[in-house]
Amino acid sequence: MYNEMLPVRDMLAPNLEAASLLEMLPDAVIFLDGAGKIQYANARAATMVGTSASELFGKTLLIGAPHLVTTLLYQAVREAVQTRIPLQVEYRSPVTQTWLRVYLTPTSEGIALFFHEEKEPKQSQEPVNSREGTYLELLENISERIAIVTPEGLLLEISQSLLADTQARREEVIGKPFTHFPMWSSAPDFQEQLSVAIVQASKGETIHVETRISPCACESLDLSMTLTPHCDVNQQVEYLIWAGYDITAQKQAEEELRALVEAIPQLVWIAQPDGSIISSNQRWCDYLAMTAEQASGDGWKVRLHPDDRQRVLDVREVAISAGIPYEIEYRLREGTSENYRWFLVRGIPCKDSQGTIRRWFGTSTDIDEQKRTEEALRRSQERGHALMASNVIGIFIAEDNKIIEANDTFLNMTGYNRKDLYQNQVNWLHMTAPEYSEITQQAHHQLALHEYMPPYEKEYICKDGSRLPVLVGGVMTQLDPTQSIYFVLDNSARKALEQRKDTFLSMASHELRTPLTSLKLQTQMLKKQLAKQDLHKADVALSRMEGPLSAVTRLVEELFDLSKIQAGKLEYTQETVNLNDVLQEVVEVMQQTQTTHAIVPHVPERPVFLVGDRDRLGQVFLNLISNAIKYSPDANQVEVNMTTSAEAVTIDVCDHGMGIPQEQREKIFARFYRAVTPSQRNIPGLGMGLAIVSEIVKHYGGTIMVESEIETGSTFHVTFPLDRQ
Ligand code: ADP
Repeated sequence: MYNEMLPVRDMLAPNLEAASLLEMLPDAVIFLDGAGKIQYANARAATMVGTSASELFGKTLLIGAPHLVTTLLYQAVREAVQTRIPLQVEYRSPVTQTWLRVYLTPTSEGIALFFHEEKEPKQSQEPVNSREGTYLELLENISERIAIVTPEGLLLEISQSLLADTQARREEVIGKPFTHFPMWSSAPDFQEQLSVAIVQASKGETIHVETRISPCACESLDLSMTLTPHCDVNQQVEYLIWAGYDITAQKQAEEELRALVEAIPQLVWIAQPDGSIISSNQRWCDYLAMTAEQASGDGWKVRLHPDDRQRVLDVREVAISAGIPYEIEYRLREGTSENYRWFLVRGIPCKDSQGTIRRWFGTSTDIDEQKRTEEALRRSQERGHALMASNVIGIFIAEDNKIIEANDTFLNMTGYNRKDLYQNQVNWLHMTAPEYSEITQQAHHQLALHEYMPPYEKEYICKDGSRLPVLVGGVMTQLDPTQSIYFVLDNSARKALEQRKDTFLSMASHELRTPLTSLKLQTQMLKKQLAKQDLHKADVALSRMEGPLSAVTRLVEELFDLSKIQAGKLEYTQETVNLNDVLQEVVEVMQQTQTTHAIVPHVPERPVFLVGDRDRLGQVFLNLISNAIKYSPDANQVEVNMTTSAEAVTIDVCDHGMGIPQEQREKIFARFYRAVTPSQRNIPGLGMGLAIVSEIVKHYGGTIMVESEIETGSTFHVTFPLDRQ
C-alpha cells in the first residue's frame, strides 16, 4: 500500500469517486495542510476520534485528535513535513490499545496520514521508524510523573501516574496547554512559573523548579520538576520532557528538622566545606541581631570577641584542613547590646562517600552562666587559699570534733604539725580547757542552730600542755553540713594586757583604800574635837569634805570589788537578811542626799527573808537606784517595787529617763562598758556598777534583765530564788 499511494490532490479533487473511496476505507485517513491543520478526515478517522469530520476540520492533529497522537507520531509528522519523504510508524494507541501502523505521505498541500489498525505489531520487512509500544508501556507503568510537551507547551504524552493525580482522562488533556493541566489549574503563580520555564526550555535550557501544589483541596504535594529539551538531528528542540518527583516526604522531613532546629535552645548553623555559613536557625540571627544574609559567610565574625578571633581561626583552620570535628569556647557579642557571652561551639563535618567534606554542621551553646560560675568559683578558691595561707589568723576545718584540715598558723599556735593532723590526733574538744566546756558547748549549739558561731573567748591546751587564750568563731560549710570552718585568733597578748590592768587595778584600789579609810577616820575625829571646842565654821567645812570623800571611797570600793571579782575572790558573809529592811534603808539613806528625785518604794507587807550578805544585797539596790537617778536627769521620780511569789522575790527599779539602745542592752553588764549615746556623754561613771550587780545576782542564783525604751525610761528586773538556805 505504501508504494501504491496516489497523489493526494488526485484523491481529493472533485473526484467524487476517490472521495467516496476514502470514506469507505476501513482505515482512518487524515490530510494535513502545510501548517499541520486537518483538511480532511474520513468517516473511520472521525469514529476513531469520536467526533465528526467537520469538527476536526481546521484543527491541528494534537488538538483535534489527541487520542491518536503520541510523541512518535508527533515526531513523524514533523519529520515528514520537513523532509517531505514518506515514512511509517507503528505504535499502540493509548486510547484503544490496538496497534496502529501509520503511513505518512507528503502531498503537494501537506501530508496524508493513513491509520491502519492491527491486532499485533506487524513483523514487517518494511522500514518502520520505531515501535512505540514499549515506550508507551513505560509511560503507563512508570511511577514517576512524566509528561512530554511540545516546544509550544502543548501536552503530547503523559504518564499514567501523573494522569492518576488529577483523575482526568488522557484525551481530555492531550493537546491542551500543559500550563492548564488540572493539577495546577488553580495555582496561577505556578502556571506562570511553568509557562516561563517552557519558554526557556524550548530555547534549549534545562530548567529545574521546586513547588508545592494541591491536586485536590485537601492534600498538598511538593514537586521537584525538571524540564529537559529533546533535540532532533538538526539540534532543533523537538519536544520537552517534563519530569516531576514527589518530594513531599523529603520536604516534610526537612520541615520537621527545621522545626526541631528552631526549637532547640542552641544557635545552629550549616557551613560550606571552607567554613563559611550558608544557613542557620532564627535564634542565631536573633542573637547576632543580623538578617540571615548579613550573618552568612563570614558576616557573623564582626560579633566575635577580638581577643578570641585568632584562636578561633586557628582551631577552625586545623579542623577544616584535617576534616575533623572541633570544639571551642569563645565570646560572641549580643547584637542588641554591648554584652559578650561565652559559647561552646561544636562543628562536625558531613562527608560524602569519598570522604570529601560536603557541609559543616554546628551548634553554639550559651555557657556564659557556667563560665561566670566557674570564674567565681576559681576566684573564691583563690581567696580561700589566700585566707588559709594568711599568717594572721588560724583556720581549721572540722568534722564533728576532729580537725581534718588546718593552716600553718593554727598548727604553729597550738604546737601540732601536719603529721599529727593527718593521723587524726588534733581534736578541738580535747584541746579545750575544761573550764571552757560549757561556753564551748553553747557556741556549738549556736552553730548548729544558725550555721554561724559568734566569736567567743576560751583557752586551748597546746600539744606541750601550755595554755593558749584564743578567740574562736566559725561557720558551717554550705556544701557539707557535717563540716565547719573555724577561725582562731591568738588572744594571749590581749589577755596578758588585761591581766596587767587587773593587777594594777587591784594594787591601786588596795593602796588607795588604806589611806582613804584613815583619812575618813581622821576627819570624823577632827569633826568631833572641833564640835567640842565649839568651832562651828571649821565643822561646816569638814562636813562639806565628807560628800566627795564618800564618793571617792565608793569608787575605790567598787574598783576593789571588781578586781576581787576578776580574781574570783569577792567575799560574801552569810546571815538571814530581811530584804524589805535592806531596801527601805537604802532608799532612806539615798533620799537624804538626793534632792532632785523622789525614790518611791513599794514593798510587800510581809517581810521577805534571804540568806545572804546584807551589804552586798544593799549594794545591788544602791547601784540600780543611783543609775536610775543618774540617767533620768529630766525626771523627778524613780520607783522601786518588790514583789514575791512562792519561788522568788523580784525587785524592779524603774526610771523615766533616756533609755538604753537595743543593741547595747546586753553589753552594759560587762565591766567598764558604758553606753555611748550623745545624751550620756556628760554623765560621769566608770562602767563598774552593773558588772558588780550582775556578779552578786549571779552569786545568789538570780537573774537580771532590762526593759527599756529610748526617751521613755528603763526598768531593771532583779529576781532572787527564795529556796536558798
Ligand atoms: P556607769 O553608770 O558608771 O557608767 P554602770 O555599770 O552602772 O556604769 O552602767 C553601765 C552603763 O549602762 C551606763 O554607762 C549606762 O550607759 C547604762 N545604764 C545603766 N543604768 C541605766 C539607766 N537606768 N538608764 C540608762 N542607761 C543606764
